[in-house]
Amino acid sequence: MGLSHPKSQALLERARQVMPGGVNSPVRAFRAVGGTPLFIAEAKGAYLTDVDGQRYVDLVGTWGPAILGHARQEVVSAICDAAQRGTSFGAPTEAEVTMAEVVQDFFPSIEMMRMVSSGTEATMSAIRLARGATKRDGIVKFEGCYHGHVDSLLVKAGSGAASFGEPDSAGVPADLAQHTLTLPFNDGEGLRRLFAEKGEQLSCVILEAITGNMGVILPTPDFLSALEEVRERYGALIIFDEVMTGFRAHRGGAQAYLDFKPDLTCLGKVVGGGLPVGVYGGRADLMSHISPLGLVYQAGTLSGNPLATAAGITTLNILKQPDFFEAIEATTASIEQGWNAAIKEGQHKAVVQRAGTMITLFFSDKPVMNFDDAQACDHERFGRFHQIMLREGVYLPPSGYEACFVSAMHGQAEIDHIVNAAKIALAESAK
Ligand SMILES: *Cc1c(COP(=O)(O)O)cnc(C)c1O
Repeated sequence: MGLSHPKSQALLERARQVMPGGVNSPVRAFRAVGGTPLFIAEAKGAYLTDVDGQRYVDLVGTWGPAILGHARQEVVSAICDAAQRGTSFGAPTEAEVTMAEVVQDFFPSIEMMRMVSSGTEATMSAIRLARGATKRDGIVKFEGCYHGHVDSLLVKAGSGAASFGEPDSAGVPADLAQHTLTLPFNDGEGLRRLFAEKGEQLSCVILEAITGNMGVILPTPDFLSALEEVRERYGALIIFDEVMTGFRAHRGGAQAYLDFKPDLTCLGKVVGGGLPVGVYGGRADLMSHISPLGLVYQAGTLSGNPLATAAGITTLNILKQPDFFEAIEATTASIEQGWNAAIKEGQHKAVVQRAGTMITLFFSDKPVMNFDDAQACDHERFGRFHQIMLREGVYLPPSGYEACFVSAMHGQAEIDHIVNAAKIALAESAK
């Protein structure tokens, strides 16, 4: 059914000798969809080119960061200029201050912040802070929400962990996992009950308030009310993990989309403009617990790295231009409409869910509201769909538990391509 990819295949064989599964992050191995993972030679604008010289419209966007499209000239120049002045100092720089101010502009709830080098580091540090500030050990997360590969958070995680049907990782001590309590996403009643029972032991609730790592799912109003209630009543901190939704679900993240002010926020992906950056931050009184002001320790040799801040500042400043985000959102809405029309026309059992510039096609006959619903989707069909989309020149995330990410470089030609390919792939994958 698929194309042949001789050079990717050969590289995969070499890679498997030296890296587990031949990859540096598990979802890249294409285990969930079958076929050969494509080794990428280069990317420009909305397109990826693999080592076999085949070109694809990219809907992964490096899992979100490529919101301006790949290799945007201003960003490339900013990185090169910064590199000329030195790639790391291990001392403070003006760029870090500027970057923090730009981030604050998008996220007014982040009164103070720290820069780290990945989303994982951001969530790990945020829960350490929540535990330190509240002097409680328990944390609450939701099934299917992925917060990076932090030990405490690799419990019922979505994303790559979900694709493998191994929600829990080996190597996470049971003593640690016992402090992580999980509930279904959108289960407001469950959250109220859990806090009624164990409220005094729980430091925080961490969530993807709009999920991306089990596909795009929006929270219900009751679920959001329950979050407010447990914060009010039990003093638990609400942590929005916006590593994926930040600058994506809305220019101001899920918190702007939902009009909900979390105590702490985690950012990653877009914030680094394609270079390794994470951010955690929020209420100034909480951030004052971070060393050297307070007793919660967190550090990083490459934190606030000059190349990463150059890419981040440049990306965010472009994104800040009037109507820039809205245009990407409109493109995503056009893809949504096109996919919905194709689903209706072919009477396919599929639903499309979108938030801002993130969009998921689920093979489900009803709206997907939580992880059970996401698991109940026809993932075998998604695998076939994925391979046909590749053949048709569209690069989708290689798992049915993910969102697609649209960029500023996706124009009408790309919208048409993506919609036409989906029409074909919906029809063929039905068999
Ligand atoms: C990607 C992601 C992370 C982890 O970020 P890394 O940079 O991969 O460590 C954490 N939380 C969410 C919601 C993510 O999407």
